[in-house]
Amino acid sequence: MARIYETSKSTLALRQRKRFLLSQIKIHPDSLRASLVERFSRCGKANCHCHHGGDKHGPFYYLTQCLAVGKLNKFLLKNSAQQQSAQQAVKHYRQLQEQLEELSQINAELLRREENLGHE
Ligand SMILES: [Zn+2]
Repeated sequence: MARIYETSKSTLALRQRKRFLLSQIKIHPDSLRASLVERFSRCGKANCHCHHGGDKHGPFYYLTQCLAVGKLNKFLLKNSAQQQSAQQAVKHYRQLQEQLEELSQINAELLRREENLGHE
């Protein structure tokens, strides 16, 4: 579900916001559409404390990527360097996605006002 952006401004303000967005939009090479999840789990050793009321092991960090309904790409991020790369990559993708969504909503509003969407 998309965030709803403020598009009830004047056409001039919308155009200014659009120009600003276009100047900000950058595709980072590490862009990654995924989520990071933190998990605690029990190990395979039956005599371990984790099977006898003790703390579970973790946290473990996983990257999950939904590719289609019921098709999830998921793997363990093994070290903190990998976790930090993933965090940054996911942030870059989300930032781009939000900027594109706002641009799209502004363009819809400009179209509704019968404005030109291309170059001014
Ligand atoms: Zn254990």
